[in-house]
Amino acid sequence: MPDDCLFCRIAEGKIPATIVFSNDEIVAFRDINPQAPTHILVIPRKHIPMVTDLEASDDPFVGRLIRTAATIARAEKIADRGFRLVLNCNREGGQTVFHLHAHLLGGRAMVWPPG
Ligand code: AMP
Ligand code: ZN
Repeated sequence: MPDDCLFCRIAEGKIPATIVFSNDEIVAFRDINPQAPTHILVIPRKHIPMVTDLEASDDPFVGRLIRTAATIARAEKIADRGFRLVLNCNREGGQTVFHLHAHLLGGRAMVWPPG
């Protein structure tokens, strides 16, 4: 867990964030610059830079990450209306923080295609 990684530091509690879920392997917190009424980032505690760094041994964890996002969506009361789960990957994918994170966005109608 690199000292210079913003999301590692949030997961360690060294940088404040509005945490909405936490267990031994996953932390979820509100995005500092929300793009929807509900905008939460769901991250592994483990430092994984991006989707292409996932290994086969991470497969069960990825399932838990997605199901945790769904649990949070229900808790945030956006599940029935619908929501979007986004994984930006690398620069042209729009990734700016290189610690894997799923954006959970909801509370408004989403448009397609995304920008
Ligand atoms: P991405 O562009 O997919 O890498 O997403 C990074 C997200 O992290 C952006 O939506 C930022 O608004 C968000 N972000 C950056 N710094 C913080 C922070 N200190 N606390 C919460 N969210 C942050
Ligand atoms: Zn990290």
